[in-house]
Amino acid sequence: MDCLFCKIIGGEIPSAKVYEDELVYAFRDINPQAPVHVLVVPKQHIASADEVTVDNSAAVAAIFTAIPKIAAAEGLGNGYRVITNIGEDGCQSVKHMHFHILGGKKLPESMA
Ligand code: 5GP
Ligand code: ZN
Repeated sequence: MDCLFCKIIGGEIPSAKVYEDELVYAFRDINPQAPVHVLVVPKQHIASADEVTVDNSAAVAAIFTAIPKIAAAEGLGNGYRVITNIGEDGCQSVKHMHFHILGGKKLPESMA
């Protein structure tokens, strides 16, 4: 499958890894929008959060278990934001589900 994040998970395309476990891979966004900008992805290809089902939801649970660990390791004790973009209106540019962790500064109040 021609998927950028599958290639990053597989090591075919290099990335700055910050966390990995059996189900989850996390790496620094190449175009950071905040002092800390990490992408957390399932190793299994799931196209977006709109494709989550009871059969693949273990990956989502693993992601949300990893997020607090990554946030702590990145020094985000004062808070942070988790975002997932979905589809055209959500401006999702990579069709492999990913959760942005943004932090390291006071983020804008507006989300849209
Ligand atoms: P989206 O817009 O789909 O929610 O987010 C995709 C994110 O992937 C963007 O923030 C973009 O900067 C990041 N990105 C795109 N290509 C690469 C890449 O090759 N490496 C890394 N580390 N991040 C990427
Ligand atoms: Zn993929």
